[in-house]
Amino acid sequence: MGRKDEEKKRTIITPDEGEHHHGHSHGHSHRHSHPHSSETIDITLEENFMDRNKSLARENLEYFDSQGIRTINILGSVGSGKTSLIEAISQKLASRRDEILVIAGDVTTTIDADRIAKHGVKTIQVNTGVECHLDAKLIKKALDVVDLSSTKIIIIENVGNLICPADFPLGSHLRLVVVSVTEGPWMIQKHPVMFHEADILVINKIDLAEVMEVDVNQLEQDATQINPNLKVFRTSVRNDIGIDEIIRYLEF
Ligand code: MG
Ligand code: ZN
Repeated sequence: MGRKDEEKKRTIITPDEGEHHHGHSHGHSHRHSHPHSSETIDITLEENFMDRNKSLARENLEYFDSQGIRTINILGSVGSGKTSLIEAISQKLASRRDEILVIAGDVTTTIDADRIAKHGVKTIQVNTGVECHLDAKLIKKALDVVDLSSTKIIIIENVGNLICPADFPLGSHLRLVVVSVTEGPWMIQKHPVMFHEADILVINKIDLAEVMEVDVNQLEQDATQINPNLKVFRTSVRNDIGIDEIIRYLEF
């Protein structure tokens, strides 16, 4: 119980004051082509901003490599099953829980971090405030406050969103995207950038595919058409289907 109470006082990483870069101007407007001159200035600012994130991500990656830490960035919509997948992995790796750090990104709550911490893995909460994605700087800040001496694996749960997190590398070795059949048949086709940038696709809740009238083969085909290098897994986290295969592939 004492341990639970301690976990309630979780350290929460937040962006610095004034660091909320004009809300949604990142990564979105440059894909549109508005013929206004004011847009041009926006685009320049934005590209610098994106470049800075990329170079911070490279620094994070170099740091991870220097420490022998493997990192994975887990992406997907709200409700796709990211937290449940991390819980399942944490449970299966219980004997190595000291080697695992989970960085849980969320706009404001600690619900996911609390769920994951129940399994005894070190968990740090990063609240993004107005931003709908994690960025490399927030990850760096999280690393600064945590003791990584026993850490060999970092699992990052990104904010639930299939759009802008694709544009913000964090310095992870792998990107894993979770899509569940309950999101319907078009999620992959509608978010090509996310799947193009991913290394692993997890199609979750396959036990509900029939009820949802979603064709899992078609989902997989949509994804591999966008990115032929994607490694695809089919899971039902709730029924412990496919998790062992993912763990084996990740070489955790
Ligand atoms: Mg979650
Ligand atoms: Zn965003």
